[in-house]
Amino acid sequence: MPTISPKHRVAVKQVLCTHCEQKCDVGHRAMSVVCPHCNKRLILEDFKITGYHAVREFVTCGDVVVEKSGHVVALCRVGSLAVKGKVQGDVTARGRVSVYKTGLLKGDVRSPALRVESGAKLAGFLRIGESPAGRE
Ligand SMILES: [Zn+2]
Repeated sequence: MPTISPKHRVAVKQVLCTHCEQKCDVGHRAMSVVCPHCNKRLILEDFKITGYHAVREFVTCGDVVVEKSGHVVALCRVGSLAVKGKVQGDVTARGRVSVYKTGLLKGDVRSPALRVESGAKLAGFLRIGESPAGRE
């Protein structure tokens, strides 16, 4: 008797394209993928920032952790963001943004969920609870 395995081993997750904000299915272990909608390359890697990181745009569909020693100066478009150090720049996150008590976040935040620990410093305009893909 042939059996059908109930679940595929290959996990697929869904990310929002950081360029066109369309949904893309990607393999769980993929590090980058080309968006089928706009044909641009998406970065899927998770980042842990422990030093000074200044770029014009910091874009990944993965999860970003800014450690206590980390200082990011960039416009951030990320999967999720955890701030234990400093972030200066507007943030758009597909997932949750967490600012810990040691964290400083200076910039506008657009995210479906925000968690702020007592003692955290936040300065900017917050738009929480909307999908980044949602219409303005
Ligand atoms: Zn795209």
